[in-house]
Amino acid sequence: MNRSEILSSLKTNPQVSVLIVGAGINGIGTFRDLALNGVDVLLVDRGDFCSGASSASSHMAHGGIRYLENGEFRLVREAVKERNRMIQNAPHIVKPLPTTIPMFKYFSGILNAPLKFMGWLDKPSERGSIIIKLGLMMYDAYTGSQRTVPRHTFHSRSESLKKWKKLNPEIVNTAVYYDGLISNPERLALEILLDAEAENPNARALNYVSLVQGEKDTVILRDELTDESFEVKPKLLINAAGPWIDFANHSLGVSTKFIGGTKGSHLVLDHPELRATIGDNEFFFENKDGRIVLIFPLQDKVLVGTSDIKLDHPDEARCTDEEVDYFLEMTARVFPNIKVTREHVVFAFSGVRPLASSLAKSTGQYSRDHHIEVLSGDWTNLLFPVYSLVGGKWTSFRAFSEEVADKAMQFLGVHRQKQTHDLPIGGGRGYPKNGEEQAKFINSLVAWTGLSKERLIALFERYGTRAESVAGFISRAGDEPLKLLPEISHREIAFIAQHEKVEHLDDLLVRRSMLAMLGRLTRENLQELSNVLGESLNWTPEQKKAEAERTLRLLADRHRLKL
Ligand SMILES: Cc1cc2nc3c(=O)[nH]c(=O)nc-3n(C[C@H](O)[C@H](O)[C@H](O)COP(=O)(O)OP(=O)(O)OC[C@H]3O[C@@H](n4cnc5c(N)ncnc54)[C@H](O)[C@@H]3O)c2cc1C
Repeated sequence: MNRSEILSSLKTNPQVSVLIVGAGINGIGTFRDLALNGVDVLLVDRGDFCSGASSASSHMAHGGIRYLENGEFRLVREAVKERNRMIQNAPHIVKPLPTTIPMFKYFSGILNAPLKFMGWLDKPSERGSIIIKLGLMMYDAYTGSQRTVPRHTFHSRSESLKKWKKLNPEIVNTAVYYDGLISNPERLALEILLDAEAENPNARALNYVSLVQGEKDTVILRDELTDESFEVKPKLLINAAGPWIDFANHSLGVSTKFIGGTKGSHLVLDHPELRATIGDNEFFFENKDGRIVLIFPLQDKVLVGTSDIKLDHPDEARCTDEEVDYFLEMTARVFPNIKVTREHVVFAFSGVRPLASSLAKSTGQYSRDHHIEVLSGDWTNLLFPVYSLVGGKWTSFRAFSEEVADKAMQFLGVHRQKQTHDLPIGGGRGYPKNGEEQAKFINSLVAWTGLSKERLIALFERYGTRAESVAGFISRAGDEPLKLLPEISHREIAFIAQHEKVEHLDDLLVRRSMLAMLGRLTRENLQELSNVLGESLNWTPEQKKAEAERTLRLLADRHRLKL
C-alpha cells in the first residue's frame, strides 16, 4: 500500500493490534518482528524513518568494550553477538572494521576499573595498556568460537610507529581489535522496514505522522504533510520515540521520566591525507579525561566523533563550535603532524542517546543497556497498555526488538512462528560470499540489464543484491546521469522515489543516499536533484523550489553545511 492507501484504510478501519510510535531502529526492528509473526501493526514517525538518534550514531556495530568497566557484562556479551549477526545478515552494509587503540600510558585505569565497578569512582580517566589488554581479552572471549572477526593483537611502540608513520610518537603501545562498521545506518533501517511490509500486508509504516494525543481506547495522529488528524484504536501502544519517549508519554497524558539523554556529535572531514593515513582502520582512543574519540573511514571521507553531553531537549541537539574545536584537537593528539582545520568539515551531525535516566555523576557511566517500561491500569486514563522502549544501542536492536515483540505477542495471545536471528536484511539476501561470486552476480546483471559493469558495481556497492531490482528498473526505460552529479542517474532517483517512501528532498539526500553526508552537494546540483525527484513525485515548479530551500535551511541548521 502507498501512503494514501494506508491513510484511507485507517480512516475506514481504525482498529490495529499494535501501534508503534517512533521509527528509529528500535521501532523498526519491533515492527519487523511483529510483521513476520502475522501481527497487524502500524508504525508512525513524526519525521522521516530513521531520522532521530538512529541517524546520529557513530556507525559502529560494537559490543562496547568500554562498558565492561561499568560492569555491563550482559550488554556487552549480547551486543558482541548481535554485532556478529549484523555482519552476517547485512553484509552489504555492515563490515568488519579493524580498530586501532593508541595508548599513551601503561598503568592508568587499573585502579579505576574495580572502583567504578563498585560504584566508588565517578570521574572517568584515560585507560592504560594493561586495563585495555584485559578488556580486549574478555571481548574476544565473548565473540565465541565462530570468530566472525579475528582476535585482538597488541603492538609495541616501535612496531606501531613503523606501521602508522604519522601516529603521535608519545604512544607506548597500540592494540588492534575488530568491531563492525555500519556504513549506511539509515539505509539499513529502511531495508528492515521494507522487508517487514513485504512480508505482511497488515504491517503498515508511515513517515511524517505524529502522535498527538491519547484517551481511553483512542489515539489521535496527525499527518504532518497535510495537517489532518485522524484516529486509531490500538490494543497496545509501543512508545519507541527514543529520546522523545517522555514527551510522547506526556501526549498520552502520562508523566514519566524514563530518559536521561546525552548528546553526541560527529564531523565528516574531506581530508585526503588523513584518509590515506588511517587506511581502512578505525582509531579509537580516549582523551585525558577518559572520553572516547573515534576517527574512521567513511568511503573517501573521515568520520570523527563523539561527545557525551547531558541535554534535556533532544530537539536542540546540534554540533557546536566547542565540539568542533574539541574534535580537531583530539585528531591532532593522535596525528600531530596532520593539519586539520574547520575548512575540512563537509558535514556534521548530532543526536541524543535515549539512555535511561541515571544518578551517575558522569555521563560515561550512564547505562547503555535497554529495558521495557510498562504503563497500564490506574497509571493512565488509557484502555490499552503502553510499552516504552528505554535505552539500547543500534547494535543490539534485534535482540531488544525480539524481547519487545515477545512481550507484545504474549499480551495479544499470538505465538511466535518466525525468528530473526539469521534473517538476511534487504540487499544482504543472497549476498555473494566471495569475489568470484560477486563477479558472477555483476556479470549476470550486465547480461540481462545491458548496464555497464562499472555502473553495476556502483549499484552493488550502494544496494547489495537489491542492485538487481534497481538495475532492472533502470533498464526498463531511457536513463541519463544527472548533469551536475553524474554518479547518480534519473532512473535511480525514480526507483528510490517510487519504492522507498520519499516525501521530502532531504529524505533522498540525507537518508536514502549518502550524498549530503559525503559532501557531494552544491547549491546548483541540489536544485537539479529537486527537479529530478519532483518529476517522480509530481511536484509543481513551486514545490521543487520550496523543497530545495527547505533542504538548504535544514543542512545549515542541523549539519553545519552552508551551500
Ligand atoms: C551520538 C550517538 C552515537 C551513537 N553511536 C552508536 C554506535 O556507534 N553504535 C551503536 O550501537 N549505538 C550507537 N548509538 C545509540 C543508538 O543510535 C540509539 O540507541 C538508537 O538509535 C536508538 O534508537 P531508537 O529507535 O530508540 O530512537 P530514535 O532513533 O531516536 O527513534 C525515535 C523516533 O521517534 C520519533 N518520534 C518522537 N516523538 C514522536 C511523536 N510524538 N510521534 C511520532 N514519532 C515520534 C522520532 O522522530 C524518532 O525518529 C549512538 C547514539 C548517539 C546519539
